[in-house]
Amino acid sequence: MADHTHDLFVIGGGSGGVRAARFAAQRGARVGMAESGRMGGTCVNVGCIPKKLYSYGAHYAEGFTEAAGYGWEIAQPPTLNWATLKANRAKEITRLNGIYEGLMTNAQVLRLQGHGRLLDAHTVEVTSDDGKTTRHSARHILIATGGTPFVPEFPGCDLVVTSDDMFDLPVLPRRLVVVGGGYIGCEMASIFHGLGAEVTLLYRGEQILRGFDEEVRAFTADEMCKHGVDVRVNADVARIEALPDGTRRLTLKDGAQLDADVVLYATGRRANVRNLGLEALGVRQAESGAIEVDEHFATSVPGVYALGDVVGRMELTPVALAEAMVLVDHLFGPAPGQSARTMDYDNIPTAVFTHPPIGTVGLGEQQARERFGAIQVFRGDFKPLKHTLSGSSERTLVKLIVDAASDRVVGLHMVGADAGEIVQGFAVALKCGATKAQFDATIGIHPTSAEEFVTLRTMARG
Ligand code: FAD
Repeated sequence: MADHTHDLFVIGGGSGGVRAARFAAQRGARVGMAESGRMGGTCVNVGCIPKKLYSYGAHYAEGFTEAAGYGWEIAQPPTLNWATLKANRAKEITRLNGIYEGLMTNAQVLRLQGHGRLLDAHTVEVTSDDGKTTRHSARHILIATGGTPFVPEFPGCDLVVTSDDMFDLPVLPRRLVVVGGGYIGCEMASIFHGLGAEVTLLYRGEQILRGFDEEVRAFTADEMCKHGVDVRVNADVARIEALPDGTRRLTLKDGAQLDADVVLYATGRRANVRNLGLEALGVRQAESGAIEVDEHFATSVPGVYALGDVVGRMELTPVALAEAMVLVDHLFGPAPGQSARTMDYDNIPTAVFTHPPIGTVGLGEQQARERFGAIQVFRGDFKPLKHTLSGSSERTLVKLIVDAASDRVVGLHMVGADAGEIVQGFAVALKCGATKAQFDATIGIHPTSAEEFVTLRTMARG
């Protein structure tokens, strides 16, 4: 075996790359890492964390209004200082960047700032920001370069921004148009509406949030509209022009026009594979650019591995982390006394931080029907106790999908306050194969919205 300087060289210091580097080093491997941007990747810098911080910020808006029903008299209408929010977010993200750097230093990972590119299956060339190149040989190379927003070509596509730009907009837009009905578009629409913008969400399909349970999609769309987001489906942009005052004028394919200060395109993401040297090496990629890997995250080139968003399976931080642990176990052996992990993509819970948020685990009603045939659906929608005094008309949806043959709960969905927090706990139950009878035998916590999941007795659809 050739004598390499590293056992593992990781390209990309995001969720998956940092986790793989750190745990490989803990198993005694000599690890190197190249990151071209800021440590922590998408999640820390322009994804989960800043988004959730802004979502917290946006929720205060409804809190101020609802407080009146609880007797609070707010003398002046509250106003948002966008510059303060941005500065506080930036400070927190810089703190997290430092923590991620520290994780690498403490694990004795050789951390290089620059763009990594494969020269062959065991050599990475790193070009630093000032153009200097260094070469690093490794027994294994991991590509964990994540993804990047994708904007289609159309007249005026250079006049739009992507989710990467939203956190640092110089001015909070008065009028925001979001194009795209996926989870990122819907979250941004809710967040910026809460922060004070007038928001229109355009989606060219029949309903937003493709891939989620149909009833959850419709319920969320209704609630977003009730909150004040103008959700327009079957709406496709033909072109965008810039007016002399900077206004973006959108013309839709049906001829309708609307004006905005900012147009956010949230129309999907693509694998970050630019200038990685994949083609020359023959690393197999899907048409979308995503790197193809097997169950051990091995690419078509021996010695080269890939995981996280760049393989385009489930683009979520906890998935990238779990994939990294599976790879470390595979390459360097499991932790003492444990067996090597494998990746299981079933029952991965997720949340969408719309207002109100969605929490979901397992199958949607249609998917469950296709997989199991006979299913039972239990559902309830109600006004949460909090809103009996708050004056808000927001409702909450809870829904269980049960495989009729085994009585197992195979899907659990919620749209309502704290849905992500609530569904995380139930995800453990689904992972353990809990049955509807076991849900029914569980005592509720009263008064909560979560207790509805253990008190759903009447079947809505069989
Ligand atoms: P990344 O975190 O993207 O890291 C890749 C890193 O590689 C980057 O730092 C990049 O700079 C670096 N890089 C790329 N090419 C090179 C190169 N050639 N050389 C050196 N470095 C390179 N997930 C959730 O679970 N919950 C959420 O709430 C959530 N919200 C999101 C909100 C938004 C707006 C977005 C965009 C994403 C969100 N995600 C969320 C998804 C989550 O951020 C990703 O799934 C996760 O970051 C993927 O991790 P990764 O390691 O694969 O890639």
